[in-house]
Amino acid sequence: MPLAPLIGHGDARRRLARAHRGDRLPQVLLVTGPSGVGKQRLALWLAQLLVCEQAGLDPCGECRRCRLVMGLSYADLHWFVPIPRPKAGDPDKQVEEAAELIADVMEERRGSGLWAPPDGMASHSMASVRLLQRRASLTSVEGGARIFIIGDADRLVPQESSPEAANALLKLLEEPPPGSMFVLTTVDPRRVLPTIRSRAVPLRLARLADQEVREFLAAHLQPPLAGTALEERAALAAGAIGQAVAADETAGQAYIAAHELLAAVLSGPGPALERALRQPPYQARGEFAAMLDALADTLGEAARGTLGQPVRRPVPDALLRHRSPAPLLRAIERVGQAREAAWGNVNPQILLAVLGEELAEVL
Ligand SMILES: [Zn+2]
Repeated sequence: MPLAPLIGHGDARRRLARAHRGDRLPQVLLVTGPSGVGKQRLALWLAQLLVCEQAGLDPCGECRRCRLVMGLSYADLHWFVPIPRPKAGDPDKQVEEAAELIADVMEERRGSGLWAPPDGMASHSMASVRLLQRRASLTSVEGGARIFIIGDADRLVPQESSPEAANALLKLLEEPPPGSMFVLTTVDPRRVLPTIRSRAVPLRLARLADQEVREFLAAHLQPPLAGTALEERAALAAGAIGQAVAADETAGQAYIAAHELLAAVLSGPGPALERALRQPPYQARGEFAAMLDALADTLGEAARGTLGQPVRRPVPDALLRHRSPAPLLRAIERVGQAREAAWGNVNPQILLAVLGEELAEVL
């Protein structure tokens, strides 16, 4: 099954196509925008544009190369996605394991044509970066451009091995091999290492119109949705198709948990807050990380609300009473710190207790 089509982002496409035509395309691009808005899908579209046998402002979608890219089978397309940490002890074995884990993800995506965000604890470990280095050192199989996509580039693990991993990647981004293009994507460029950020040309993607989301969902979601169910799902997407695709139980639960925590924090010190902070421990770190992401997203939405912009996701009313977004931005910063600590070995329950107190202070 080919990948589901890229929806919207006409401005970004036109800018990229014009730059490509004028041979002005940067070798390192950092695509930013809300989760699920289509950043990696745009990167795949760009890959298609770069290798398409017909020179146009859009990839033709029909030629052999276009079809191979859409089948995720083009030899010079290397798509790196966050994966669980390889378990092997030997570094070479770890690289092999990373290659297999990524191949498994690609196989899944070939089967469904759609994908949900990675597990909260999946990352680009040192093994993935070494795999990237190895692949970058090869020559082009097809004799054309080579494209490296690094999805969720903020997931380069800031752990013990990170300086090495980061430096290896930096060298590559500083002097990309001729004929190669690197497309990194992230929800929040502030979470990408500044040294990486400074080497990339940014491209920001905006949320899609609800109508675009609705049309896409009606055409591509399995099992199909219609009527109120379709409306609800489109509303949940808040202009980002990936959010609607991922709106299964896990994603829904992360938002529910985030809302419960916010409600408890906003009720002030007392039994409700204490209860919330003494929740049974999270079974999986991934769930805890997903809750923190949902929390940051909800706070971000509230910050937009305080600026008079339309709020596209349910937000507790009390958050919208702030006169400026400043307290909400401080709260997002605290959540980001907890998110980073969650990468390490800090107990989620302790993190939650500290975060709850900090949020109560700030909000
Ligand atoms: Zn083509």
